[in-house]
Amino acid sequence: MKLVRFLADGCVRYGVVEGDRVRELLRPFWEGVTPMRTTHALADVHLLAPTRPSKMLCVGLNYRDHAAEMGRNLPDEPILFMKPSTALLGPEQPIVYPKMAARVDYEAELAVVVGRRCRSVAEEDADEYILGYTCFNDVTARDLQSKDGQWTRAKSFDTFGAVGPWIETEPGDPNRLTVTCRVGGEVRQQSSTDQLAFNCRALLSWCSRIMTLEPGDVIATGTPSGVGPLKVGDVVEVEVENIGVLSNPVVAEPAKGAEAAVVH
Ligand code: MG
Repeated sequence: MKLVRFLADGCVRYGVVEGDRVRELLRPFWEGVTPMRTTHALADVHLLAPTRPSKMLCVGLNYRDHAAEMGRNLPDEPILFMKPSTALLGPEQPIVYPKMAARVDYEAELAVVVGRRCRSVAEEDADEYILGYTCFNDVTARDLQSKDGQWTRAKSFDTFGAVGPWIETEPGDPNRLTVTCRVGGEVRQQSSTDQLAFNCRALLSWCSRIMTLEPGDVIATGTPSGVGPLKVGDVVEVEVENIGVLSNPVVAEPAKGAEAAVVH
C-alpha cells in the first residue's frame, strides 16, 4: 500500500493510492487503515508530507561505501542526530536555501516511519512497529556543520527534512533497495541499502532504547557516497526502489523568511 496525506477542499486528509486515484481513509493510518467511498484523481490532489512526525531521527556515516570513500571506519554504534518537526517538507514543496548558508547539500536516504508508540523494542520485534518506508532528503548546510562543530543548525532549517511522496508498506526487502539521488535529472548518488552498517530494524531498536518513538516518527537511515551541493533553481529527486520519487525544487529564501513557503 502507498499511504498519502493530502489536501482536498482545503482539508488535510489521509488516503491510499489505487492506480491513478487516491481513496480517502477515515482516520490517520496509525489508527488503522479504514477505506471510504470517496476517491480523487492522484493528479488533482496536493500531496503533503505523508506523516507529521514528533521528531525526525537521522543517522550519520551508515553506508559502508560512504565510509570507505571518506577513509573512515564505521562507527561501533549509530551516530544519531535529530531534525525538528518544523523542518518537515512534503513532495514538490520548495527547499528554501537559507541566506545564512554558503553550501547546502542533498543527502538521499531511505527512511522508516514508525507505526506504533514504543520503547525498548528488540531488533527481532522491530517490524511490528514499522508502518512503512519512504524517501528522505536530509538537506544539510555543510559549511555550518563544519563551522559549528555540532549539527543542530546545519540540519534544522525549515524545509531541510523532505519526506515522501508516500509511505510504502511493502517495498520488498528493505535491506536490498537501490537509493538514487538526481539533480536536474543527472544521477549524483546511487547505492543499495545492502551497504547499511545498521539496518532499519537495528536502528528502530536502537533509537527506542534511547527515547519513546511515537506513531509517525521518522528514522532516516543515512546517505551513501556522492553527497554534493545544491543551488537555487535546481530540482533534486530522491528515488528509493519500490517506493517512489521525492522531488523538490530549490528556491532562495524570501525576504520574510521561509515559513510562508511551507504547508504542513
Ligand atoms: Mg544524512
